[in-house]
Amino acid sequence: MTDIRTLGVIGAGQMGIGIAQVSAQAGYDVILSDIDLPRAEKGKANIAKLLARAVDKEKMTQSEADAVLARITPVGELAPLADAQFVIEAATEREEVKRAIFGNVGKLLGKDAILATNTSSIPITRLAQAAPDAERFIGVHFFNPVPVMVLVEIIRGLATTPEVVEAVEAYATRIGKTAVHAFDAPGFVVNRILLPMLNEAVFVLGEGVGSVIDIDQGCKLGLNHPMGPLTLLDFVGLDTALEILNVFLTTTGDPKYRPAPLLVKYVEAGWYGRKTGRGFYDYSGPEPVPTR
Ligand code: NAD
Repeated sequence: MTDIRTLGVIGAGQMGIGIAQVSAQAGYDVILSDIDLPRAEKGKANIAKLLARAVDKEKMTQSEADAVLARITPVGELAPLADAQFVIEAATEREEVKRAIFGNVGKLLGKDAILATNTSSIPITRLAQAAPDAERFIGVHFFNPVPVMVLVEIIRGLATTPEVVEAVEAYATRIGKTAVHAFDAPGFVVNRILLPMLNEAVFVLGEGVGSVIDIDQGCKLGLNHPMGPLTLLDFVGLDTALEILNVFLTTTGDPKYRPAPLLVKYVEAGWYGRKTGRGFYDYSGPEPVPTR
């Protein structure tokens, strides 16, 4: 089985930094890459902030936090990933972006290296065609925020070998996650069920059936969910949610996945949720304020 010591993470956004953090906490050396060095360094700085908070809350000692950070190397190019036995791509949810990354990183990886994608929706078998070796390509789908959420979905493409699945299961166990297996279908298991619900919440808002608070409180209290669907959408990123729905729609041709017009409008406005400071809530003050 592939002995994973160094992990490469491509994309230092909200998911990439979470994957880097939990992997470094489990003792892996992590190379964290993004389009340029400042973005990768910003990603590492965001991890440092989260670790500082953990130290303040006495969940971790300062020396443990320092050791975790020392294991994370931010880079602005793909070349250093040649040292990694396992690379997880967590870049923007656009097929052409991911395909270009696999083509470029594929030229660098050793023949035993495993390449994984954290895509939320794009079929693994289709993405594998852009990877250097479809047998060593797999989906590893984390949940947001990665340090908190225990689940990972492991999705094998048609050609993925059992040995690669086993190596990724061992990695998931070492970072303290519980893995479930999903067949390679759009959205796998959890997002296939979740995204239509989140989308419906935006239809309900757009049609004026309820306010942001009515919808979020209603689902929290009526369904016993820990947070309402619009709060969750602001966490996920409205741009990412829209990309996912569009992948479902184009892959299946089923109109039930048609994105709510208000979701499209918010994305056009650049209101992506927490990461841009505004989505269904405004995050500029001390407390989130509903926008409708
Ligand atoms: P994000 O927008 O926070 O981060 C994406 C990062 O990728 C950015 O830092 C961007 O600069 C970087 N990037 C873009 N093109 C790149 C390239 N060519 N090379 C290197 N880096 C590049 O997005 P995110 O929420 O972290 O999502 C990343 C991936 O994880 C997506 O595939 C998404 O579907 C998936 N995902 C997201 C969630 C979620 O809740 N947000 C959950 C599970 C999986």
